[in-house]
Amino acid sequence: MTQAIQSMPRENQYLIPSEPYYQESGDEISLYQAAYDSRIPMMLKGPTGCGKTRFIEHMAWRLGKPLITISCHEDMTASDLIGRYLLNADGTYWQDGPLTTAARIGAICYLDEVVEARQDTTVAIHSLTDYRRTLSLEKKGELLQAHEDFQLVISYNPGYQTLMKDLKTSTKQRFAALEFEYPDEETEVSIVCHETGIGKVTAGRLIQIAKHARNLVGHGLNEGISTRLLVYTAQLIQKGIPPVAACHMALVRPLSDDADIRETLEATVQGCF
Ligand code: ADP
Repeated sequence: MTQAIQSMPRENQYLIPSEPYYQESGDEISLYQAAYDSRIPMMLKGPTGCGKTRFIEHMAWRLGKPLITISCHEDMTASDLIGRYLLNADGTYWQDGPLTTAARIGAICYLDEVVEARQDTTVAIHSLTDYRRTLSLEKKGELLQAHEDFQLVISYNPGYQTLMKDLKTSTKQRFAALEFEYPDEETEVSIVCHETGIGKVTAGRLIQIAKHARNLVGHGLNEGISTRLLVYTAQLIQKGIPPVAACHMALVRPLSDDADIRETLEATVQGCF
């Protein structure tokens, strides 16, 4: 199996083999398609667990382009993105980082939660996002011209940034943006049913709980219940866990440590089931 993967052309390893299910909320598919056709770098804005990653997987599949996803974190250095020299028995050799690989093979490169990365790391992407479409591999002495199919996409959660942690304006202004929100009720019911096989009535009740919690954002809650958590809860119920226990486990406890908020949410759960 590993050998089979190794002998594939590199870009094929990153192709998405079957259609990732994505339920559209507006006209984001055609808007993204137009941006890709012009290779405009894209920013997907929205709270965690509302479908940004699923959307980009779906779009990469639709376009038939490889997708390389990088989860950004605060210890990430420019070398983690671009590449570094490594050592083996024959001496040193250059290893492309995931961003470099994406630029070479013409992949869509998705930098998830880019605000987590240090600013000096984010600056490394600048020359890829303007007319130059180049990446400087300084340590290797190479100026890489990105493949014509390459596109950079970042995700950004507007709720997370602080004064210390935000994207520089000079970085933000290099991207066009699509805004994602939790889907409307009907769409979210069909997502939860499709993802888990749960019945519509139970899915509808879970979404009522989520709606209630989302109303508490800014009143003791930083972020509402995500579609992802609703999917987890429905999966637990499908495994035979009683709905109230599943809701406590996957909706209430992950969301807050505040006793009052938990009590309010638990009461909502009791009211719904
Ligand atoms: P994000 O990247 O915004 O944090 P994800 O794309 O990982 O969130 O979404 C979390 C989960 O929610 C997905 O794995 C999928 O099950 C479900 N989901 C959310 N929105 C959609 C949607 N529009 N269509 C299909 N599934 C969705």
